[in-house]
Amino acid sequence: DKGVEKTRKSFSDRINELFAGFREVDEEFFDDLEETLITSDVGFDMTIALSDALREEIQLKGARNGEEVKNLIVEKMIDIYDQGGEPDVSIAKNPDGPTVVLFVGVNGVGKTTTIGKYAYQLKQAGHKVLLAAGDTFRAGAIEQLEEWGKRVDVPVISGKAHGDPASVAFDAVKEATNGDYDYLLIDTAGRLQNKVNLMNELEKMKRIIQREIPQAPHETLLVLDATTGQNALIQAKEFDKTVDISGLVLTKLDGTAKGGVIFAIRYELDLPVKLIGLGEGLDDLQVFEAEKFIYQLIK
Ligand code: GDP
Repeated sequence: DKGVEKTRKSFSDRINELFAGFREVDEEFFDDLEETLITSDVGFDMTIALSDALREEIQLKGARNGEEVKNLIVEKMIDIYDQGGEPDVSIAKNPDGPTVVLFVGVNGVGKTTTIGKYAYQLKQAGHKVLLAAGDTFRAGAIEQLEEWGKRVDVPVISGKAHGDPASVAFDAVKEATNGDYDYLLIDTAGRLQNKVNLMNELEKMKRIIQREIPQAPHETLLVLDATTGQNALIQAKEFDKTVDISGLVLTKLDGTAKGGVIFAIRYELDLPVKLIGLGEGLDDLQVFEAEKFIYQLIK
């Protein structure tokens, strides 16, 4: 329903609205806060942890006005985020050759778009980038990546539709090494319905990549669609069991009411968020920094 879609507010809007109507710190305030967090898919456990921490802090510091309480929420969100696991580290560049990044995730989450945007960002930073169309399964996936390649002026290695993705990976790694590329970004097919196939396919890809570059892939990033809220969390758990993931990309955080899922994922899984997608444009990809993200969220 388009009407509902339009009136659905972003996570950020909802939090800020809570403070626009701020009167005092009472039970009603905490009820509204908890409801906002839960309906934004922050997750029950994180919501309670945040709410409890805030109560304690307000008592301790005697915060009364909206601005003070808002600042405490930011502080506590950052605290709880930091306790969630290892600090987020951005994608490190391999100094000895191409940095190989494998993108995994189910269809439609924004893998291809993320690769295109990331390629653009890396290229803007002066790096030599190569793409590989390893999703030989989904109809149109190869052409879509080739389109992105043209758009951002980066070469794409591809094979036949329904061909062996490992053979595409092989050609791409060879080209990346011989052509002195800085980054090789590899798209893959996302078939979570068939876990054994998915795992075998990715394992074979990795073995072939490692013949050429033993430490590669340097990153295996799971791409998740933030608009699916708690479903994104379930997907992350499923993939985490099957594939050796080094980090996450959360897409479509622009305007979604379910953006809080980034905290639920952090709270339940020890996986760093490396990149976030904030739109369909070339510039709509950011290296994720939790503090910056939280400050932007609660302005
Ligand atoms: P893939 O099947 O995982 O490769 O997904 P695609 O890259 O084809 O993306 C699916 C759809 O999501 C496309 O229409 C993209 O334009 C859109 N999309 C991807 N990332 C974002 C994002 O960060 N924000 C928004 N609003 N749309 C996105």
